[in-house]
Amino acid sequence: MRIELENLEGGKGEFARVYQPEDLNPVDERVSLVAPVAVDGKVQLSGNEVLVNGHLETRAQVECDRCLKPVELPVNADFTLEYISGSDYESSQTAELTEAELTVSVFDGEAIDVDEIVKEQVLLAVPTRMLCREDCKGICPEYGTDRNTGDCNCVTTDIDPSWAALKNLT
Ligand SMILES: [Zn+2]
Ligand SMILES: [Zn+2]
Repeated sequence: MRIELENLEGGKGEFARVYQPEDLNPVDERVSLVAPVAVDGKVQLSGNEVLVNGHLETRAQVECDRCLKPVELPVNADFTLEYISGSDYESSQTAELTEAELTVSVFDGEAIDVDEIVKEQVLLAVPTRMLCREDCKGICPEYGTDRNTGDCNCVTTDIDPSWAALKNLT
C-alpha cells in the first residue's frame, strides 16, 4: 500500500490496513510472518518532510540460531518515522539530522510505502539473536542431528574407549 502525498487533504491523512502473511512473506531470509499484520497510523506533511507514526501488531517466525527450529514471537511496534525526499536529504544532511530519536528515511518525494514500513518494523522488533530456549544445544555440525532430542552418534563414539583405541591404530 502506497500513500500518495498529493492525495492528502490539508497535508494530513490516516491509514489502516490488515495484511495477510502471504502479502509480505518472506520479510527477509530469516524472518517470516505467521499471522495477519494490523497496522494503522497517521501521515503528516511538514514542509519538505513527511512524518509517519503508527502502530502494528502481528506474530513473526524466526529460526533458532543454533538448531534452526522455527520460533514464534509476538510483534507489537509503535513507530515514528521521518521521511525526506532524496534531494532535500542532500542539502539538509549537516543541518537537521541531529534528532537521534527519529528514524530518517529517504523517499521518492511522492508516496510513502506502507509495505516497506511494516517489513522494517517487524525486522527491528525481532532480536538479532534468537534461541528456541536458553540452553538450546544446537545441531551437530557433522551429522546434522538435533542435539536437543538426544546425544548424537559423534558424542557417544568420541567417548567410547574402544573407538579411541581404534583411532590410535590408524
Ligand atoms: Zn534451538
Ligand atoms: Zn554429532
